[in-house]
Order: sequence, then C-alpha cells, then structure tokens
Amino acid sequence: MRELEPWPGSEGVLRAVLASLGRGRLAHAWLVVGPRGAGKAAFARNLVAAALCHRRGPGGLPCGRCDACEAVAADRHPDVWWVGSEGRLGVAEARAFGHGVALRADGSVRVLVVEACERLTGFAAAALLKVLEDPPGPRLFILLTEAPEQVEPTLRSRCQLVRLHPAPLDELAAWLVAHDPARGTAEAALQVARAAGGWPGRAWSLWTGGRDDPAAAAPGVDVAEALLAALRATTLEDALAAARRLADAGASPAQLLAVLRDLAVAHAGLLGRRVRPLGPLPPEVLADLARLWPSGALAAAFAPCQEALAALPYHVNALLNWEYVVISLQRVRVG
Ligand SMILES: [Zn+2]
Repeated sequence: MRELEPWPGSEGVLRAVLASLGRGRLAHAWLVVGPRGAGKAAFARNLVAAALCHRRGPGGLPCGRCDACEAVAADRHPDVWWVGSEGRLGVAEARAFGHGVALRADGSVRVLVVEACERLTGFAAAALLKVLEDPPGPRLFILLTEAPEQVEPTLRSRCQLVRLHPAPLDELAAWLVAHDPARGTAEAALQVARAAGGWPGRAWSLWTGGRDDPAAAAPGVDVAEALLAALRATTLEDALAAARRLADAGASPAQLLAVLRDLAVAHAGLLGRRVRPLGPLPPEVLADLARLWPSGALAAAFAPCQEALAALPYHVNALLNWEYVVISLQRVRVG
C-alpha cells in the first residue's frame, strides 16, 4: 500500500495540513500521533509527496504521477530522509541533516521523517531540536509517534500536532473492498473494519492476512475488550487499568459513545431485532452489560464521554483523557 492516496479517516486532516502548505506557510515541524495501524506512515508519505510534487492537484494533494511523487512512493527521493522505527537517529545524523549537504538551487524542501520519535535519546532529541529551531533553509520535519507523552517535551512543543482518528466503518469497508475485492464481501469488510476499531492499517492487515474468519482476528478485539473492561470497572484500580488498555488499543471516545448508545437501545428492548449495534460489542455482550448499567446511570455516562471527545484535539496525552472518562464512568455507576 505505497500508492499516494490518503487513507480512510485521514483525508480531512491531510487537506487541512496541505491547505497551509498551499498558502506557502509551510509549518516546518509536525508531530503525527496515532496508535499502531492508524496509518501514520501513509499520512507522512502523502505530506512529503505534496511538499515535493511538481504538479499539486486540487486541495494541494500530490499528483501521484510526477517524478517526485513516484520517487517518494518508491522511497527513493534524494531529498527525503526517512528514519524507520527500526532505524536510529543519533546526534551526528541530526546535525548532518541540519548542515544539510548542498541545498538545491531551486530551494526545494529537504525532508526528515522520524518514525517512533519517542525513542530518540535525549541527546539526539536536543540535536534535532537545535536544527528544528534554526534550520539552514527550507526544511520539513515529520515526527511520528504512538506515545506523544513520551516525546521529549521541548521537541513536542515545537511541532504542530496532527492527531489521526479512526475512519467511519462504512468508508473503511468500501476502501478495503476497492483495493482487494477478492478477499471477501462488503459485509465481511464491514466486520473487519469494526474488528479493527476503524483504524485502516489494522483493517488492511486483517483483510489481507488470509484469515477465513476476519471477525475472529485478534488486533481489533483489544478495543472491544478494553471498552468492556472500562464499563465493568468497579474500583479505581480497575478504572485506571481499563484506561491504560483503551489508550494502548488506540480506542476513541467515539467508540465508547457508540457502546453507550447500544446500551440505551438494549434497554429499550430493540437491540439485535430492529437496531444493529454501532459499537464493537456484540448484542449478547451488550445485553449482559445493560444489567450492570441501569437507565439513570447510563444517562449520566454520556456527558464525560462527550467532553473527552470534544477535548481530543487539545489533548496530547490520550491516557489522561481516558483516565478522566473511565473514572467518571466508575463513579457514575458505583457512586
Ligand atoms: Zn506529483
């Protein structure tokens, strides 16, 4: 999946970032945040291609056909330095990038992408920060991380934050079918999209992993199990553990809201017969869970989820956001 095409769920964010590129106000440092399988590398590749493309299309999207786009897609553009998650950016490398061997005469951007940037050593982060604050010419820095709270704070504060969100399930399912129709039906694709919690990278590996029963595949189940643990927590200790699982699984408060809605539908006795679940929990699990959540408590549970959802773009730390939600839920139910 190296082609230059925004992945489901990230096109809106990409367009917003590219709009600033199109206005010539290239913010030179971005921190792209999302869990494993969110499509951070695909997002970065599109951003890099857009910065280097010779014929940007509508909305600043890369054309995908010029020399620059083809070179970026094939990971062989001479102006791009991509440090993968197994690679290592040390002090010497960060400085070398800063001194930037011969900027080209046309003033084109030179690009550094660092995956798993939370693993940079303190010294490497400091060297990178220095280059980032005082670049010797046009530079684009794209740092990727699953754990923004572990990124060196000074480095983080110099970057504009881009947080990726799960894709709408129907959009993700259509994307899976369009890219590899032989894998299964539209209904199977929807199951995969749900099991992956809406994250395109996870969905893609489930979809192409050759499993007979995609819904039984493991990765996305994390989200469902973490949501279940959050709604069952009776002690503060349970709540904190569940919040950690939700953060690790890359769950979104929108998924928890969907489960609350499903519980409300279950209370009304409509679940499974006339109304299908929107969240990742199956009807029989929801029926059990509805017994733990009387209507009054359930009604009070929506507010903290909605607050967490609204706060999401401003929260660098997903874990803190989840702790707030899950502790609120536990208090609402247990008192
Ligand atoms: Zn192009």
